[in-house]
Amino acid sequence: MTDARLGARPPAPDPLPIPVADNHCHLEISRDGASTDVATAIRDATAVGVNRLVQIGCDIESARWTVQVVAEHRALLGGVAIHPNEAPRHAEAGNLEAVLDEIEALAAHPRIRVIGETGLDYYRTGPEGVAAQQESFRRHIDLARRTGLPLQIHDRDAHDDVLRILGEDGAPERTVLHCYSGDMAMARECVRRGYYLSFAGTVTFKNARDLRNALSVTPLEHLLVETDAPYLTPSPHRGQVNAPYLVPLTVRVMAATLNVAVPTLCQALSDNSETVYGPW
Ligand SMILES: [Zn+2]
Repeated sequence: MTDARLGARPPAPDPLPIPVADNHCHLEISRDGASTDVATAIRDATAVGVNRLVQIGCDIESARWTVQVVAEHRALLGGVAIHPNEAPRHAEAGNLEAVLDEIEALAAHPRIRVIGETGLDYYRTGPEGVAAQQESFRRHIDLARRTGLPLQIHDRDAHDDVLRILGEDGAPERTVLHCYSGDMAMARECVRRGYYLSFAGTVTFKNARDLRNALSVTPLEHLLVETDAPYLTPSPHRGQVNAPYLVPLTVRVMAATLNVAVPTLCQALSDNSETVYGPW
């Protein structure tokens, strides 16, 4: 899909002093029509201290692609799942079971280190899709528990049900709220339960005071950083195409919000990434 309004790619930010991992990106998705070259994305990111990426494939085609690409590039680990907005379509087509079986088979690859993104999205999917989303979410929780892999959760306008279902079914030992979007009280509850909060470029937005407040009460041991590229481009490039090389912009805002030195935060983000996903 081409969108001319996206304009030129933002310039590279200053490199981080200690390399970190972008723990959630979609390298197969192009928003500006330019073909995404994986080696270039990795090289650009590594040049600014983002030397490890978690590539997320969250429909069948991109999950298959993810397994191929993580086998080819040492900087990549992968995640596979059926996205919550895809689940109702599969349920309606009568093939949710079949695609979940294929996700389980793809997850057996040694470079696939997370089940995700799964969860609930009440923003894009209406009430008619809720049952299928919840069923798919529970199946992914079960898969993560059976395989011993961590879980990455997509939660859009569904905080209460996400926490309820995780509580009912039992969250996997390593559970990550990708693109954290809750408030301070929810952050405290997630920390109490031992979950990881992954912050995206949204935390840099001018109007994101609630999100920065949530970040400010999250201990370093529970933090991860991500792009969700090509979406959610951090300030001052909001609206343009995102890519893993822009992670330093988010890390610096996080450090300022937390009132910690940038190298201290980078070390924590790097360590936490390896704790959750294992060594690259
Ligand atoms: Zn995503």
